[in-house]
Amino acid sequence: MTETKNNQVKMLILGSGPAGFSAALYAARAELAPLVLTGMQLGGQAALTYTIENYPGFPEGVGGAQLGELFQKQAEHFGTRVEFDTANKVDLSARPFKVTTDAGEYAAETLIVTTGASPIHLNVPGEDTLLGRGVSYCATCDGAFFKDKKVIVVGGGDSALEEGLFITRYASSVTVVHRREELRAGAILQKRAQEHPKIQFVLNTVVTEILGSGKMEAARLKNVATGAESILEADGIFIFIGHSPNTEIFKGQLKMDAHGYIEVNHMMETSVAGVFAAGEAADPHFRQVVTSAGMGAAAAIQATRFLEAESA
Ligand code: NAP
Repeated sequence: MTETKNNQVKMLILGSGPAGFSAALYAARAELAPLVLTGMQLGGQAALTYTIENYPGFPEGVGGAQLGELFQKQAEHFGTRVEFDTANKVDLSARPFKVTTDAGEYAAETLIVTTGASPIHLNVPGEDTLLGRGVSYCATCDGAFFKDKKVIVVGGGDSALEEGLFITRYASSVTVVHRREELRAGAILQKRAQEHPKIQFVLNTVVTEILGSGKMEAARLKNVATGAESILEADGIFIFIGHSPNTEIFKGQLKMDAHGYIEVNHMMETSVAGVFAAGEAADPHFRQVVTSAGMGAAAAIQATRFLEAESA
C-alpha cells in the first residue's frame, strides 16, 4: 500500500460479496483493473450461509463460502486486485474520490459501494454480555458449538427458519420464537420447519432478556397477546430478525432512505456522479444472492460507460 500508483485506481469496489465480485468481474473484463477492498467479511453474508439453493446454475445447491470463492476466483482471473482492507472514511466531495482505510488512502475515479448489511440486534439485556457465550447471529459459524444442546431461534423470516433447520444438525431441540402468529418465511421453508421433529414454535412471543452468568442459561419470554411472562431454558440463542445496511461512512454524502439504504436509480447511480451502489447496501427489497450479483454487474457496466463518456 506504499506504492502511490497502486492506490490510484479507475474503479474501487468496497465489499466482497456477490455484488462486489460481480461488479469486479464486469469491470475487469472491461479492462479497468478494478480493486476490491474486501471489508471485514470476505464473501459477504452469503459466505456465512451453509447452502444456497436458489442461485441459478447449481441445481443441487452450493455452499455459501464455496460460491464466494468461485466469485472471487472468476473476478481475479480477469485482472481484479483484491486487498483485505476495510474503508472507514470516504470523501466524495470531489473526484478522484478519497477512501481511507486502516492501511492507508486510495484515490478512485469511480466507486462502487457494495458494503452489504449486518444483523440487527434485539437490544435486550444480556444480548451483548452473552455474545459468543450463547448469543449468536450466525448458525454456520457457531451451530456446531451446540451439539445435543437446546437452542432458541428468534425471528419468523426465511433466515430464521433456514438457519434453524441448519442448527438441527447439532442441537437436540430448536425453539423458534416469533413475535406474530403468522410466519414471514416462504412456504417451502415453513413446511420443512413445521415438519421437522426437533423444531417447535412459540408464536406471538418476544424475548425480553437473555439470562445467564458467564454463559447463556435461559431467555425471558413475553407473550404479546396475553402479556404473560415465562422462562425458557436454553444453551444458545440465534437471532435472525433482519439486517441493517453498512452505510454509516456515507451518511451526509450519499442520499439514503430513512433506514440507511443508499438510494440508486435503475442504472445503479447514487446521488453523486461517479459513485454507484449495488447489493444489500442499496436494496431493502430483494436481498438475494442473484439480485445482488445482478445489481453489481449493472453498476460496473454503468460505471464503465461513465468513464468511457468522459474520455470520448
Ligand atoms: P426478514 O424477512 O426481514 O424477517 C425478519 C423476521 O424477524 C420477521 O419475521 C420479523 O417479524 C422478525 N423481527 C424483526 N424485528 C424484530 C424484533 N425487534 N423482535 C422480534 N422479531 C423481529 O429478514 P430475514 O429472514 O433475514 O430475510 C431477509 C431477506 O433475505 C428476505 O428478503 C428473505 O426472503 C431473504 N432470504 C432468503 C432466503 C432463501 O430464499 N432461502 C434465506 C434467507 C434470507 P415480522 O414477521 O413480524 O415482521
